Amino acid sequence: MTNDPNAGDGADVDPADLAGRVANGDLRLHELEAHTDHETAAAARRLLVERETDADLDAVGEYSFDAADAEPNIENMIGAVGVPVGIVGPVSVAGGAVEGEKYLPLATTEGALLASVNRGCSVLRQSGGASARVLKSRMTRAPVFRVSGVAEAEAVLSWVGEHTEELKTTAEETTSHGELKEVTPYVVGDSVFLRFGFDTKDAMGMNMATIASQAACDLVEEETPAELVALSGNLCTDKKPAAINAIEGRGRSVTADVEIDRDRLEDRLHTTPEAIDEINTRKNLVGSAKAASLGFNAQAANVIAAAFLATGQDSAQIVEGANTITTTEVREEGETLYASVSLASLEVGTVGGGTKLPTQAEGLDVIGVRGGGDPPGSNADALAEVISVGVLAGELSLLGALASRHLSSAHEQLGR
Ligand code: NAP
Repeated sequence: MTNDPNAGDGADVDPADLAGRVANGDLRLHELEAHTDHETAAAARRLLVERETDADLDAVGEYSFDAADAEPNIENMIGAVGVPVGIVGPVSVAGGAVEGEKYLPLATTEGALLASVNRGCSVLRQSGGASARVLKSRMTRAPVFRVSGVAEAEAVLSWVGEHTEELKTTAEETTSHGELKEVTPYVVGDSVFLRFGFDTKDAMGMNMATIASQAACDLVEEETPAELVALSGNLCTDKKPAAINAIEGRGRSVTADVEIDRDRLEDRLHTTPEAIDEINTRKNLVGSAKAASLGFNAQAANVIAAAFLATGQDSAQIVEGANTITTTEVREEGETLYASVSLASLEVGTVGGGTKLPTQAEGLDVIGVRGGGDPPGSNADALAEVISVGVLAGELSLLGALASRHLSSAHEQLGR
């Protein structure tokens, strides 16, 4: 919005003048939209940065959306970063929320990634597709309160236990979609944590859960001696490696699996069920255990990161996505290989956040999950299931490449 009475509609404001006013200290970088339109403000910031650095920002200044539409997503905008986006599939997904042939858009700068995932998709396709299910959906926020000591902590926990319904009603007054499903308390000395678990339907839900948690915290403060110290007490846990997410889940807990014939593995991946199973055991299970990793997988984060960028997810939450376990088993006396991926904490949404930006919304359209689902939550479940199948494809392909020792030659040909 243009608040400056001398600014006209913004089109007649010279970005160079604005950049000069920022350089002189008359205006601050974040104030430009109050004096002109969003495109001119971004142009002025580019000019300023170009003058003060050796950078040329012509490419950053080329973007395909209205800068005003990105206002909820960014401050101090100067343009956009172009990340190549490609496509893998189609692959047949038999899910709880999605059924049929699906393409998956992936945005990355890592050569060989899409070729690898696409090879896995083709193995899945020839095996009749993959099954997938979202088994839990919970976005969590865990505020931390101060109490005088353990006796007061116990009193707070008793009150919470007896008034969970009131907390639920209060939290849900802030949202027409979110549902507070549980409140799990933790005590450490004179700190009380209440881990609120929400079903946030088609939203990834971090803003929704935060706003609803604040309302619940206000009630706790009114009714108990607990004093809120921080709305996020890090036991949530958002955007940091944490065992609680790997164990309890966060966002969507989603699993995909497939059974593949020996002939198919030999033909498509030039390997055997036994070779893939041994690599999965020694690498993904034993190696990850020895490293005390939270992720027992080969490259789950590769697919999750690329899918997040292509569909407007919060890219910092790839951390939680990496909490993925890949399992394999030789079945039918060596005639088939069973393979699964279990993503404990895949935090995805099809409304809110970056999902509204045009290129990301088109990415969601490719999967058929843009916006709110019917019933609410079904679109985000479907997105989680399709991503999990992409992760399964990536795991199979990389394990196959390692088993047939083709990994380094594929990177030499495609990544350089
Ligand atoms: P949001 O953009 O804040 O809100 C999405 C809203 O869409 C919901 O609150 C809901 O409104 C509405 N909605 C419409 N149809 C819906 C449907 N079918 N299902 C669910 N909701 C529907 O998105 P958010 O997912 O809560 O938060 C995502 C954003 O949070 C991202 O931009 C992310 O970067 C940011 N973030 C915030 C924090 C934080 O601590 N605050 C942390 C990490 C990330 P009603 O609630 O009124 O129903």
